[in-house]
Amino acid sequence: MLVIRADLVEQMVAHARRDHPDEACGILAGPDDGSGRPERFVAMENAERSPTFYRFDSMEQLRVYQEMDRNDEVPVVVYHSHTATEPYPSRTDISLASEPFAHYVLIGTRDPEQHELRSYRIVDGDVAEEEVQVVENYMFAHTGSDDVPDPAPRA
Ligand SMILES: [Zn+2]
Repeated sequence: MLVIRADLVEQMVAHARRDHPDEACGILAGPDDGSGRPERFVAMENAERSPTFYRFDSMEQLRVYQEMDRNDEVPVVVYHSHTATEPYPSRTDISLASEPFAHYVLIGTRDPEQHELRSYRIVDGDVAEEEVQVVENYMFAHTGSDDVPDPAPRA
């Protein structure tokens, strides 16, 4: 299950709307403490500028990951938008998913009024959709120990 603050959802959706009809992408960083809580919104460039595909710009990705390292953060959420199709990971998305501990969030913007938001785990090519709970803040969100993913191993 992904527990996520409403303001972070709003920022991702706003980014997806802004870049529509191209796909938008980015990450939500969170503390590397196993809590699985996204805290910091980082919009990134879609190096492909494509309506059907996204790829992080490699230099920007390096910068963002170095900054997370300095802050003791991990990419809790890796998000991108689908602008014409359903928010389900494409074959390319699945083959490029390299963060087994991340929540892969897909935002659908095909409907101009109503966005769609789904979250998946992608591990070794297997896709599992998970529940998303949007909360005003994390203080009162109940997350049992079963919901807390193991911390990502450090390289
Ligand atoms: Zn995709």
